[in-house]
Amino acid sequence: MLLDKMEIEQLPRRTLSVVVPVFNEQEVLPEFHRRVGAVLDTLEMNSKFIYVNDGSTDGTVDVINGLQMRDARVTLVDLSRNFGKEIALTAGLDHTDSDAVIVIDADLQDPPELIPELVAQWLAGYDVVYAKRTCRDGEDVFKKVTAFLFYRLIQKMSRVQIPEDTGDYRLLSRRAVEAIGQLREQHRFMKGLFTWIGYPQKAVLYRRAPRFAGATKWNYWKLWNFALEGITSFTGLPLKVATYVGLASAVGAFGYGLYMILRTLIYGNPVAGYPSLLVAIMFLGGMQLLGIGIIGEYLARMFDESKHRPLYFLKTGRSVNNVRDPQPTVLRSAEAIE
Ligand code: UDP
Ligand code: MG
Repeated sequence: MLLDKMEIEQLPRRTLSVVVPVFNEQEVLPEFHRRVGAVLDTLEMNSKFIYVNDGSTDGTVDVINGLQMRDARVTLVDLSRNFGKEIALTAGLDHTDSDAVIVIDADLQDPPELIPELVAQWLAGYDVVYAKRTCRDGEDVFKKVTAFLFYRLIQKMSRVQIPEDTGDYRLLSRRAVEAIGQLREQHRFMKGLFTWIGYPQKAVLYRRAPRFAGATKWNYWKLWNFALEGITSFTGLPLKVATYVGLASAVGAFGYGLYMILRTLIYGNPVAGYPSLLVAIMFLGGMQLLGIGIIGEYLARMFDESKHRPLYFLKTGRSVNNVRDPQPTVLRSAEAIE
């Protein structure tokens, strides 16, 4: 039986939330809100903005409060300090209850005009619809090359296939959001986590624009650490590399030792060879330090995870869904006490 127009209008509308982590973005926010708002107006969905203030030190909160006055769709999630983008994003996801969630940066590098296409793919049955860049305008060659190498490297090393050239800009279905919400690790390599949860995923291509205003919060040192984060949270391969390099150099040293003994027995020992000794010592010392360093990276992450701290705190109000520990054990009856 087909529904007539009246009946369709009475069906509950689908809901959409737009989660935006913001850290010192006062210049861009009004323009961002205007552009995203215009796109959302064209959709037949009830939409919400969830701005997560990640401990901004400029007038960002005032700007969001201003937006809230004029637009009832705006919600502010105010974190107690700067926790970093990945955690801000998670806090935003924790505060959604809509059928679908869009995750987008505030700097307008991700074109909001793509949202209808993301939504269309979601309606077609995909749980994670990610926007894939075809071109990086406004980024220098070094950034492009390093980004290219990073994606190829992590692709080769880890078992989950992390899509290359995608940022965090994507649409998540309710069940994908719930799944992400259950991953409470401190070291959150979001691109990896989005893939790790599985479910049908789909790419939508677009051109990445330069930042609209303000400056990027990334520098090469941060990007390096980000890459390290991605590698150490998604693969244990470096540990294996350390093992094999260690093994190879030990076998080499053993063979060389054998050769020295034989040579001394046959030709005698004219007391030379201290350079080779030095080389061997330096090489082994270097390998050992490298191995310890790699173990240290993993150990440091285990240390952070083992503290089981909540991911974030809110400035006002109780944080929902923050700690996902198992329910406290409740004694069921009086007998349990006896
Ligand atoms: N951001 C955040 N916390 C931070 C750093 C950044 O919430 O500690 C937000 C920022 O406001 C922006 C998004 O994360 O909305 C992406 O930041 P940015 O443009 O600096 O990163 P890039 O686009 O260069 O990867
Ligand atoms: Mg950006």
